[in-house]
Amino acid sequence: MKNQPLREIFDKVRHVVTEPEWALARPLIEEIRQLKAERDALILAHNYQHPLIFFGVADLSGDSLGLARQASQVDAQTIVMCGVHFMAETAKLLNPDRQVLIPDDQAGCSLADAITAEDVEALRERYPGVPVVTYVNTSAAVKAASDICCTSSNAIEIVEALASDQVLLIPDRHLADYVSNHSEVEILTWEGGCVVHEEFRASEIDALRVDHPDICVIAHPECHAEVQASADMVGSTSQLIDWVGNHRPDKVAMITECTMSDNVASHFPKTEFIQPCSLCPYMRRITLEKIRDCLRDGSGEVEIDEAIADQARLSVTRMLEVS
Ligand code: SF4
Repeated sequence: MKNQPLREIFDKVRHVVTEPEWALARPLIEEIRQLKAERDALILAHNYQHPLIFFGVADLSGDSLGLARQASQVDAQTIVMCGVHFMAETAKLLNPDRQVLIPDDQAGCSLADAITAEDVEALRERYPGVPVVTYVNTSAAVKAASDICCTSSNAIEIVEALASDQVLLIPDRHLADYVSNHSEVEILTWEGGCVVHEEFRASEIDALRVDHPDICVIAHPECHAEVQASADMVGSTSQLIDWVGNHRPDKVAMITECTMSDNVASHFPKTEFIQPCSLCPYMRRITLEKIRDCLRDGSGEVEIDEAIADQARLSVTRMLEVS
């Protein structure tokens, strides 16, 4: 994806970007490329980023786990995280000697906001000895209070690797439902949820199937349990993309943040993507203008309190060692 010719980029985004929008974006993309080279920077983009960012300026892209892995292997002075704040913190944890920038430090996450380190300590007192598995969609302080992290790609594997009859899997109650339905381990959880995935309803999927009898419906595990039960397949964003690549359905609905369908559709032009749409307001805070500004000014630098950094890093690296 690194510095493709601009015409090729427009070919990838023209299904969602008009000629006038492209004319406005093009000089910004060129400016960002120039600044990136001057600063020896690498741009990481989550799958939910706008196609102009995803195809236009990102060097590497992926889901939370993919970005965490790539963040641990980068060869650049500066990392720009086009995603939300916990992702930038994870990149900083894995690259303590590099500068990590986030183009908008208000790009948060409803799951990360759902739990604090104090809440984790209270859970440990209530369930002594039960290991704490924390979704990466949390603050560094919460990671530091936990035993190990997981993502939606590897949550089952991480829970089962702990060889414990009971596990606290926090903070997403729907991911906890998903793991509970696929594992013998008893899952205790928290009342957190993603504002984007909680929007979807099983009745919407029923209606889709009436309107499109041949449609395949694939859903993210942050959706309600009844949405998961209505889907043909449930998986993380990278697992959803792989499923489309392996099955090449004629028609598919990806029940997740709807920008991802715009990005995936570029790779599978023969598949029709039907989008019941829910947008992440936090991901949308990242724009080409803000990426340009943070590269130009070195603004939005992510710092992690030294008192928690080592422990938080340990929770992430333990995960990477298991999966
Ligand atoms: S989509 Fe949901 S989990 Fe992902 S960043 Fe947005 S609010 Fe957080």
